[in-house]
Amino acid sequence: MKSYAFATITELQNELKSKNVSAKELLEYFSDRYAKYNSKLGACLELFTTQSVLEKSSSTGPLAGIPGSIKDNICQEGRIAACASKILANYTSPYDATIIKDLKESGALLLSRANCDEFAMGSSTETSAFQLSRNPWNTECSPGGSSGGSAVAVAAGLVPWALGSETGGSVRQPAALCGIYGLKPTYGLLSRYGLIAYASSLDQVGIFTRSVMDNAKILSVVAGQDIHDSTTLAVEKKDYTAHINGKLKDNLTIGVIDNALNAEGLDPEVRAALEEVIKQYEKLGVKIKRITVPAMDFSAATYFILSRAEAASNLARFDGVRYGLRAENVSSLSDMYKTTRHDGFGAEVQARIMVGNYVLSAGHAGKFYSNAQKVQNCMRQEISDAFKDVDVLLAPTAAAPAFKIGAFNDNKLQLDLQDYFTCIANLTGIPGLSIPCGFSKSGLPIGFQLMAPHLREDLLYQMAYAYEQVTPWHTMHPESFE
Ligand code: GLN
Repeated sequence: MKSYAFATITELQNELKSKNVSAKELLEYFSDRYAKYNSKLGACLELFTTQSVLEKSSSTGPLAGIPGSIKDNICQEGRIAACASKILANYTSPYDATIIKDLKESGALLLSRANCDEFAMGSSTETSAFQLSRNPWNTECSPGGSSGGSAVAVAAGLVPWALGSETGGSVRQPAALCGIYGLKPTYGLLSRYGLIAYASSLDQVGIFTRSVMDNAKILSVVAGQDIHDSTTLAVEKKDYTAHINGKLKDNLTIGVIDNALNAEGLDPEVRAALEEVIKQYEKLGVKIKRITVPAMDFSAATYFILSRAEAASNLARFDGVRYGLRAENVSSLSDMYKTTRHDGFGAEVQARIMVGNYVLSAGHAGKFYSNAQKVQNCMRQEISDAFKDVDVLLAPTAAAPAFKIGAFNDNKLQLDLQDYFTCIANLTGIPGLSIPCGFSKSGLPIGFQLMAPHLREDLLYQMAYAYEQVTPWHTMHPESFE
């Protein structure tokens, strides 16, 4: 059989249409790749049987026959959704998330369940209670996180697309570290019904692909208002591929976030790669304006407080009574709560619950939580002002290429700072797309991100596609997994 490992969705659709391959054969092909490589990469926690995958999806629709992988915090009926946590290790969802329902109706084949940081808390996929995920470009390195498993699955050719989730950067950062595209949509564009919450006011499902067009194809299926999620925006389904043509409108301006490019700790190779990106866009006729967005320098601290506060509230529901693990051999009800949560949650999640409860507690909430919300409001204003002068914003996605697994074991702050350039989009609700833009001398991928005003995913795609047409990065794949 031909090699489909790194084929785009568009290429696979053509193969299916011309009957060179059937949906079942494609599933078997990608199942074989899973069997061959997943134990080396730790991308996924579970591969589903071909038969069960085919049965659950429609055989027609825009994504008919196209396999993908779903992060372990998105509910699929009859499948485990464990959030890579012991507390939900045996939790089987009784229903489909709205976006899963959409995907099944579109004919997409949900082949595997991707590893992640526990409850999506982390930037390295090291907090998973079950396994490490490894970067296919160098398996001693982390793929980033928290949606690291999904990113690895796509980068290593185990599937052509995957879903992750973003609260502070968990799709864009692993996309950059693995050399693929990662979209964090506008807050409220995708339903969160069936996405197990970390910090609800920031969480969005995101999309990993190896091409811009593929990303738009998935978004076209999953975007749109949902009666089950009151925070979704009144947006109809539309075809996001419709205006992607490589032709950029005249007079587009990119606002290069200068304070991000000059940030302390930004790897010089990343800075150099971004300067090349800027030149490329100039050649494409885009105007470049260097601007300062002071909010970026406050975003990580603000994010830290708000995300922990919401996490503490959201995770209160895991008490041994309603879902998942329940401690046995306990002396009282309160002992049962305590033991369940002690045994069920890993160290990172426990630490976040404690910080979250602290910043919300009487006497401290004013100093931490309320102040963080005030800063968040200023950021929203600043970002909306910035878009009065420029069409999109450009910044690094991550400060450096992939780091070694365990590199930050003794420096948790460094790991938290992985969100430095990304979480501003989550705090202000705007969409962001990480785009591959080169490699370090040591052969590790580098990414940059574009951010656009609310609901301008179309503009992100147009700009990314124009860049994709004149650069080779998206065509490069990790040799060991060819
Ligand atoms: N690294 C961030 C955190 O741990 C982002 C996680 C995410 O986006 N889910 O909170």
